[in-house]
Amino acid sequence: MAKRTTAEKIRIFRSFFTGLKNVYGTYDTKTGRVRQVKEPVTDDVLLAHLAGKQSYGVYLLTGDKTNALAVDFDDDELCLPIAFQAGARRYGMSAYIERSKAKGYHVWIFFEKPVSARKARLVARKILADMEKLEIEIFPKQDSLDSEVSYGNFINAPLFGAIVLKGRTVFVDPAEQTKPYPDQWELLERMQRVPEVRLDAIITSCKLTEQNLINEKPIPEKHSETKNEASYFGLPPCARKMLDEGVSSNQRVICFRLAIHFKRSGIPYDLALVTLKAWALKNHPTNDKRIITESEIETQAKYAYTRSYRGFGCEDPAIAAYCDSNCPVYSHTKSVFSSGVCNNRTEDEIS
Ligand code: SF4
Repeated sequence: MAKRTTAEKIRIFRSFFTGLKNVYGTYDTKTGRVRQVKEPVTDDVLLAHLAGKQSYGVYLLTGDKTNALAVDFDDDELCLPIAFQAGARRYGMSAYIERSKAKGYHVWIFFEKPVSARKARLVARKILADMEKLEIEIFPKQDSLDSEVSYGNFINAPLFGAIVLKGRTVFVDPAEQTKPYPDQWELLERMQRVPEVRLDAIITSCKLTEQNLINEKPIPEKHSETKNEASYFGLPPCARKMLDEGVSSNQRVICFRLAIHFKRSGIPYDLALVTLKAWALKNHPTNDKRIITESEIETQAKYAYTRSYRGFGCEDPAIAAYCDSNCPVYSHTKSVFSSGVCNNRTEDEIS
């Protein structure tokens, strides 16, 4: 682990978490009360934050520009931050998950230079719309400062020294069950920043406007074997239900099917594994059966990711129990059951 001087740390930190220069936010670690401090964001302010003496919250919005964007997931449930990270990756952007100070996660995207906040927010909203989670909060919360918005809203910056050792306000590795990256500074130094032209490309290719995001119907009209069929990981309703609620039986079959859906949605194998392991903790097997083990999950995921399977498993009784007739695949699949298009596997076939 490379040693860095305090000055180097402040330089790195400032290059990521910079915004308005004469105001910042903070909170009282005992009462949780937040307040605004109308003073310059000096090196001492950042140092106090890193040392755990006083937290620093950054007002990201400067005019109509921002240097970074953060999406605030309130819940400790990891699926959504991972889905957002994967969604960003699908659009060619790196995003980083930070466990926030008390509960939930922030997912950050950093930019090479300050970019239009409107464009950054539009693209983030597109990813959230793909997930059917448009209600999730994005920082900055506005497109620009104006006579009615003097400062915008601050977001607590990562690496608040008072709670870093508790695994809070640190960037976590989704491939390692959200263990904090061992060297946060090394991670910051190698983080990839997104150029504004990438936002432009996404906006143009997706024909993004505020209005079409509001009107967006994320469910596609037609069934396709290769296209994402829905949202929230590109998952159909049955998979979302199984993920949200856990299951009580057929864990290996369902694990395999979920992995197939993840693969189809472009979720990388390591992220699929993390999500499946988090899902397993929600399972509530009956008849004294145990929860699927990590090694069983790995076996099923490996099957799904290394072999070629068609179909959604809709006709499988283990999956059909979670089916929703509003699913866009529903009518298509019902019509092909008899033709044997779906490649089904039973629990017995899965070893
Ligand atoms: S038709 Fe039913 S079982 Fe098939 S993908 Fe849709 S919700 Fe799932």
